[in-house]
Amino acid sequence: MTLERARQLDATDPLRFARERFALPEGMIYLDGNSLGALPKATPHHLADVVERQWGQDLINSWNRHGWIEWPMRIAAKLAPIVGARPSELLIADSTTVNLFKLLAAAMKARPDRRVILTEEGNFPTDAYAAEAVASLMPGIRVDTRPKNELLEVLDGEVGVLFLTHVNYRTGARHDMVELNRAAHDAGALTLWDLSHTAGALAVDLNASEADLAVGCGYKYLNGGPGAPAFLFVADHFQPVLESPIPGWMGDRNPFAFAHLHTPADGIRRFLTGTPSILALAALEAGLDTFDGVRIADVERKAESLADFFLESVQALCGSQLMLPALCPFSDRGSHVSVGHPEGYAVMQALIAEGIIGDFRPPDLMRFGFAPLYNSHLDAWSAATVLSQILATRAWDKAHFRQRQTVT
Ligand SMILES: *Cc1c(COP(=O)(O)O)cnc(C)c1O
Repeated sequence: MTLERARQLDATDPLRFARERFALPEGMIYLDGNSLGALPKATPHHLADVVERQWGQDLINSWNRHGWIEWPMRIAAKLAPIVGARPSELLIADSTTVNLFKLLAAAMKARPDRRVILTEEGNFPTDAYAAEAVASLMPGIRVDTRPKNELLEVLDGEVGVLFLTHVNYRTGARHDMVELNRAAHDAGALTLWDLSHTAGALAVDLNASEADLAVGCGYKYLNGGPGAPAFLFVADHFQPVLESPIPGWMGDRNPFAFAHLHTPADGIRRFLTGTPSILALAALEAGLDTFDGVRIADVERKAESLADFFLESVQALCGSQLMLPALCPFSDRGSHVSVGHPEGYAVMQALIAEGIIGDFRPPDLMRFGFAPLYNSHLDAWSAATVLSQILATRAWDKAHFRQRQTVT
């Protein structure tokens, strides 16, 4: 695991052209694209155009002239090859949390014979909150939260929805989507996948794995900008039977009829609520365009190469001082690597002071996210090298590195 090896791997990387699409700060090694994706070079100009020409000049006409009304569906279609879905099954709307709530409630309402939302311990808190909120509003429904190894055991005729995050936000552990979809269907349950740490980093295939429902984040590997709207997926054959629990006029069959009673639109548009944020959609579109001409299989292959190269470098340089994840097959992991250290917070602050940007998740995990479109093996090598120096010199052991901030 040498500098030379990193350079060799980068020289033969089929995605090396994609890094040019991003405006990365000079001297920074950014390994937090799993929290906030980097700024695409095209975004500022595209946003300025939408603001000045479309909003500024064409004003209300833009809903028709620039097709704003179709953007939540048109832009979602760009996700189709990234998540392995048909364009008609995808929508950009709201936040991940709101979409989770909408799809969970819709699915449980469509299965009145089922009482249980089955989910996993250690999920991202907002996912658990959304599930509990749905259960608290629907009499008789409860959430059953289990460790990963118990999920199959309790997947029975009571379960309406098996609701999982594909790649765990802390540990990076990945579920087998094909196996779990099959097991859920055998039990007569639907599946809902949170793809927040998957979309844009791994070659997920919602259609081939026969997933029913999914949501995911626009501001992580999809590079849509801070607070970008999220996406949702509803398999075509479920769309006629699922209804949003937050019906809004934008999801109505005819919003401009101003009818007193709501009739859900045909197709995926029924999951829109209120007026979409056009500026946020514009930024997300520029983010999705960074995947132009990129094969998602190459993205996953590079994610594996980066994560493995980093893990092996860290193992070689500072193995004994860190709690490293077990090196399982990549099909069981995602594109971020979490390494443990009892003073992980301070170590990460010392790394950030050296221009290596990762993040920290309590109690002791340092996360290093590898975004295949713009991270290189040289980035991974540099991060491992600086980390080993910080550990060797105890450079992290300073009061200002231990001082916790609210957002890290
Ligand atoms: C990032 C993330 C979210 C974010 O939810 P928002 O409502 O978009 O803020 C949700 N779930 C998981 C698993 C995440 O990683």
